[in-house]
Amino acid sequence: MSDCLFCGIVDGKVKATVVYQDERLVAFKDINPKAPVHILIIPRKHVSSVLDISADDGALIGEIFQIAARLAREQGIADSGFRVVVNSGADSGQTVFHLHYHLLGGRRMSWPPG
Ligand code: 5GP
Ligand code: ZN
Repeated sequence: MSDCLFCGIVDGKVKATVVYQDERLVAFKDINPKAPVHILIIPRKHVSSVLDISADDGALIGEIFQIAARLAREQGIADSGFRVVVNSGADSGQTVFHLHYHLLGGRRMSWPPG
């Protein structure tokens, strides 16, 4: 999508600190981190939100969680604990409408989330 910020990161038109990429996914540091480790994992293909995940995307979503676990280990937060969060829609605070999984860790988090 031409007017999508995260498609711009996928295409290399918008700069980001990329920590992992393959044929299907890109992971990069959040520009406004909410924890010592805050990485966004996105599919290369444009999917607007959780509501737009199709039956064909099962393997893609599985891989996102595998990469979340790999990055959690690499970033040193696997043992201390971490969150994988997806916001969807206005009440959740979703601001970018290209599906993204927040990987957050490195500090104690409260529950329930605010
Ligand atoms: P949402 O609120 O939609 O779940 O999360 C969007 C996230 O994207 C926010 O945590 C925000 O800080 C991050 N973000 C917004 N614009 C940019 C950008 O240009 N580059 C990077 N790396 N992250 C961004
Ligand atoms: Zn997009």
